[in-house]
Amino acid sequence: MGAELLTLYIVLTFDDLTPDMLTVSDILKSAGARGTFFINTAAITSENEEGIVKELAESHEIGSHSHSHPDLTKLSTEMVYGELELSKQILERIVKREVKSFAYPYGAHNNIVVEAVRKCGYTVARTTIVEPPTTTVEDFLRLPVVFHDFLHLNKEAVENLLKKLLKERYTQTTLEHLWRQVAENPVKALNTLLELFKDWEPEEDALAIILLHPWKVRELNAWRELEQAITTAKAIGKIATLEEARKTFAAKQNNRKLELRR
Ligand SMILES: [Zn+2]
Repeated sequence: MGAELLTLYIVLTFDDLTPDMLTVSDILKSAGARGTFFINTAAITSENEEGIVKELAESHEIGSHSHSHPDLTKLSTEMVYGELELSKQILERIVKREVKSFAYPYGAHNNIVVEAVRKCGYTVARTTIVEPPTTTVEDFLRLPVVFHDFLHLNKEAVENLLKKLLKERYTQTTLEHLWRQVAENPVKALNTLLELFKDWEPEEDALAIILLHPWKVRELNAWRELEQAITTAKAIGKIATLEEARKTFAAKQNNRKLELRR
């Protein structure tokens, strides 16, 4: 292998339809970046929300976040299919292109749910499992994130991530500092985390997915921090939509298989 340029692909995903998504979209657009917006279609109750989805689709990727945002692992198989099919149909009618990305509500998934997602024609799905950046994707329908703004963010997973990023520079203080920020303002914590990526040298192309809730960014009044996070993301990697990242990593894995066969 020659001296290849390694790329960290950063996918910025935003869940739960609210008008705040348009504010996020404007921030992304002024940074020249595209995001993936996951829409729970039951929240589309009028032409107003339909207009929001249409406007988002002009500049970004639209994915499904189910119809009524249930914990899919608690539904009958039939109801799971209903949620997956209906939201796909509604979104495709509005955005007039195929919707291939899915985000599990609450991150909740099991084998039955994943199989249903596959059968309904989705090619990529995001969980809320926190892991260091992925270099080899095991399953495109169980993609982990490097960070999310949920309360159930797992401290141990964050610790693992920091250890992987910082190697011998990792200290307990770094973790505690970040963890305090997570409680205060997760968008600020995201900034701190992305700054730590600056000195990280991946051994191969890597994928880092981030999940934020626009309504939460509004509640925290963290628009400036979001702007800053997007600027930092651009400095450390290449911002892509989830579907773009899927294509890139699927191609990479195919190449590797060919190499192994030789
Ligand atoms: Zn959600």
